[in-house]
Amino acid sequence: MPRQSARRFATSIVTVSLLFALVGFSLPTKAVSNALTQTVQEFVQSGAFEEAERQTLLAIEQAHQSGVLSVSTLSASTFFEVGVLLQSASRFNVAIDALYVALDGFTRHGQLIDMAKTLHHLGTAQRFLGNYEQSIGYLRRAQSIAQTQGILPLNATIQMEIGLVQKEQGQVQAALYTLKKALGLFRVQHDDKSTGQGLATIGDIYATLNQFSEANTYYQDALQIAKTSDDKPLTAQILGKIGALLLLKGDIEEASEALKYALALLKENGESSEISTTQAWLGEALVKTGDTEQGLMLLEESLAVAKSTGQQKLLQQSRLALANAMMSLQQFDDALAYAKNGTIEARRRGDLRSQLNFLSIQVKALAAKGEFKRALDIQSVLQNIREEVLSSGSEVAIAQLQAEIEIERQAQSIQVLQKTKQLALAEAEQLNLRTTLFWSTLIAGLLTLFLIWSRYTQRQQTIRLRREVKQRTKELEQKNSELQTAYKTLEQVSLHDSLTGLYNRHYLESQLPGELKRSSHANKHQQGHNERNQDLLCFLIDIDHFKRINDEHGHLAGDKVLSQFADVLREVFRQTDLLIRWGGEEFLVICRHSMRDDLPQLAERCRAAVSDKVFHIDDTRSLRVTCSIGFSILPPVEHVSFEESWKSTFSVVDYCLYATKMSGRNGWIGVIDTNKALIGDVQQTPLDKKFHFKQSYISTSFNTLSSINWPDE
Ligand code: GH3
Ligand code: MG
Ligand code: MG
Repeated sequence: MPRQSARRFATSIVTVSLLFALVGFSLPTKAVSNALTQTVQEFVQSGAFEEAERQTLLAIEQAHQSGVLSVSTLSASTFFEVGVLLQSASRFNVAIDALYVALDGFTRHGQLIDMAKTLHHLGTAQRFLGNYEQSIGYLRRAQSIAQTQGILPLNATIQMEIGLVQKEQGQVQAALYTLKKALGLFRVQHDDKSTGQGLATIGDIYATLNQFSEANTYYQDALQIAKTSDDKPLTAQILGKIGALLLLKGDIEEASEALKYALALLKENGESSEISTTQAWLGEALVKTGDTEQGLMLLEESLAVAKSTGQQKLLQQSRLALANAMMSLQQFDDALAYAKNGTIEARRRGDLRSQLNFLSIQVKALAAKGEFKRALDIQSVLQNIREEVLSSGSEVAIAQLQAEIEIERQAQSIQVLQKTKQLALAEAEQLNLRTTLFWSTLIAGLLTLFLIWSRYTQRQQTIRLRREVKQRTKELEQKNSELQTAYKTLEQVSLHDSLTGLYNRHYLESQLPGELKRSSHANKHQQGHNERNQDLLCFLIDIDHFKRINDEHGHLAGDKVLSQFADVLREVFRQTDLLIRWGGEEFLVICRHSMRDDLPQLAERCRAAVSDKVFHIDDTRSLRVTCSIGFSILPPVEHVSFEESWKSTFSVVDYCLYATKMSGRNGWIGVIDTNKALIGDVQQTPLDKKFHFKQSYISTSFNTLSSINWPDE
């Protein structure tokens, strides 16, 4: 894009001129206010984290013993400082303890601003521990104080932190919305550092949505800001993110170089949580480049750190990386174990997108192990989640928000340019370097021209973006419907029988538990007559002497009969009934929302329709068949578990079908109720004895109950 490269050109001129200006910039060192802070700081700096924690816990204990009321303002801020120190070393649990004492102290002294700052840190610490609800709770409290006190910078930073938590929760849409607001606030305040962080976080979101080039644009902008403001930790952090993006894109060699560099920088400047995260990425990259030993070592180290410090995101990241590594090493059991744990955690957090990541590893690992049935089961869960993500409709909203943020980002870039221009001018004047002044003036002139032009193109860009969003929305809708068709085909393939087009057993297994639950619930809560249609009915139907058809007319003819038989079933039963090809020439039908009293009528309708039908084998030949049916109310007796209910239903219909065959075929026998009171002195049937029913209410197409030939026990 010509506009962008022009902007980059202008930006690089500015950067060069800034080399004159920004020499000898150093971070101010924080004055240490108190002995405890100093001790903890020393321990943290020398890596003796446990000792730092011990000292803090001791101090907290003392504060408690001398009565929390006596926590003075001074010690409240000491605990705050100590909390922040521990947090930077990833010792989140003790950090939270210290911050809590600080919060208590500040609250008692009514120091609202300090309270807000402490709540902010508490929110961040809880985010690292994966306690997102609590985190949001603290942050909202902090935000409301910052707002009522009119402290805009704090409010903006908290806003960004909320966005981060929402991102971790997988709430892409909410996170983008929050971050957009935060960016706007940073811009008003000319807060470059936070802007850099905000842009990097938006880059992260693009990366999770697999929009790599957009993610890169945001990272590059953030990097530029971090470099310009000489923020080394932020620079290192963003370099790490860029490395991770390369890894995600599959540029493994480049990724591992970038990550090594970022890690070295972070070890000098960064927070320990950043170091662990980058280390995990590097580990994954190394495994992929073939440096398995070193890579696995880094990954296992990250996993251990995540576990010992309770960092949830790092834990998930390490699990995903390890699962991927195990897949590439063909250690499928290990891959499966990591992916399972990851899935459980992602489900607990309600994070659909990372569930998708872990589940697809599970599917691949199971398929590689030859466990196709389980792979297929998980595949169907995966499908559901994918559909959930798609059908939530949030994709379109996300695209809209992305476009709005893009506009915000551009406004921001212009402001950064403006600011660097001002900085350059001021420095030039101070040093009284005529050449610099000359260049700066020239640059300023160029920049002004560029800004005017940029504003103009920005407006054009906005119009174009709106158009693109519209276009993208359309594309997304189309993609959605394409995907839906794809899913339908997949479902067709995996859940349907290819000869008859009816459902297969797999489908029944996926549907029946829900149906049974619904029916039993409805039966328990039924009120009045119009809600009586809540029974489930089950029919097992078998074609009589089917083998003869194969023997006399050939297997192909048999197939044709089967497929036409399925058509008869489709005519006899309702569209909402489940028609299943149970096996060879056996079919199972489940009727929903029905009444048990209709069982005999339905069975007879089916029997008659089959015996009336003329089955065509080819242009000249046709034949007739009959069928035998066993049926039952589903379930015949209440069981707690689905498995028991289904097992007993199937045994009953199977037994009844067998009895029909033995009593002469072309008929039906079935159980309507097992709960009828004894009428007179009627004998129990073999069916009652076999299934331990008191006395069931049996119906049959044969003359009388006594003309039934029951199979032996
Ligand atoms: P019965 O009345 O006792 O049920 O007798 P039957 O001959 O129908 O019963 P049996 O179970 O002995 O035979 C079923 C036959 O169905 C055996 C098998 O060759 C045939 N079969 C199973 N699946 C298919 C199929 O997909 N196509 C064809 N053409 N035949 C099949
Ligand atoms: Mg048969
Ligand atoms: Mg059979």
